[in-house]
Amino acid sequence: MNINQDSVLAALRTVKYPGYSRDIVSFGLVKDIQVDGTDVGVMIELTAPNPQLGEQIADAVRLGLRNAFPNLTNAHVQLRIPQAAPGAPQPAAGAAAGGATRQRDPRIRRVVAVASGKGGVGKSTCSVNLACALHALGARVGLMDADIYGPSIPLMMGMHDRPSVTEDENKLIPPLAHGVKLISMGFLIDPDQAVIWRGPMIQKTIQQFVGQVEWGDLDYLLVDLPPGTGDAQLSLCQTVALDGGVVVTTPQEASLGVVRKGMTMFEKVNVPLLGIVENMSYFTAPDGSRVEIFGHGGGRTEATRKGIPFLGEIPIYTEIREGGDRGIPVVVGAPDSAPAKAFMAVAEAIRKQLG
Ligand code: ADP
Repeated sequence: MNINQDSVLAALRTVKYPGYSRDIVSFGLVKDIQVDGTDVGVMIELTAPNPQLGEQIADAVRLGLRNAFPNLTNAHVQLRIPQAAPGAPQPAAGAAAGGATRQRDPRIRRVVAVASGKGGVGKSTCSVNLACALHALGARVGLMDADIYGPSIPLMMGMHDRPSVTEDENKLIPPLAHGVKLISMGFLIDPDQAVIWRGPMIQKTIQQFVGQVEWGDLDYLLVDLPPGTGDAQLSLCQTVALDGGVVVTTPQEASLGVVRKGMTMFEKVNVPLLGIVENMSYFTAPDGSRVEIFGHGGGRTEATRKGIPFLGEIPIYTEIREGGDRGIPVVVGAPDSAPAKAFMAVAEAIRKQLG
């Protein structure tokens, strides 16, 4: 086969990003290709300080090129790896490059993603209540609902206004709900339209979404990720510069090992795990007895196994579901209630984690 820029690029599209089904070209790691006869030079740029991953990718690139071009004489891979910031957490062994070093608005102090291994565990419920809890603790908070499959946060926050735009019409101004600045995919896509999102489409939309919001000064920006741990979630973690990830699980999900996928996803993109929240932990019956519907303690066990903090447990309360349906999160509607206190404790734990 002829060796030229196009055929080399095509060959690089067969090189998978370690641990993922997507290739290194679609992840934007290939920055330059030089062809000189049967010699090829490729420049790969990582977004996180992870030399081990760099070597792994370089080996895969060399192998991919040799497989594609039997007449290849030299495959030179130049790696560009960013320096770790002093005091920054070191990447976990075997971790992949990710978004932890992405540029972002310096007015946003901390960006935290909330993830879950699958849907229906209460991830969005936790996101809205934690955002309101951090606000109640005196912080300036933004909440980005990036759940492209079913953005439910505007309903849970009782927000029906669309964002306005800045004077130059370049940026969206997030509306304020219960003191929290809110932006949602639900504001931008028609909820009745089934959307089939493909990797590059997600990345492009999210980049616009992230870059074109006028958040102003924020202490915390919470990002509600779509449920699951596939390529869509990975794209998001790579696009948004995250300071930490929180994984929400139910005891049942934890016992099935689903929560591990969430933890692995953050590891792969070098985002520090702030800890696990166990939702729907137990139910207090009217006679005061404790009913552990989905079992209990799986979240704590996983956190211990992994050596990361257990951020707390949120029991099942009718008020939590009602608050979500009414658009007034329980932390706002009944701040002195037991469920609100449970969310406040988790918010305190997250704040402590972030220093
Ligand atoms: P996810 O974002 O993980 O798909 P949601 O936050 O939408 O899940 O929650 C699914 C449903 O469960 C919602 O109706 C929500 O009100 C309810 N729910 C979540 N957590 C609790 C809880 N601790 N107690 C009672 N209902 C809950």
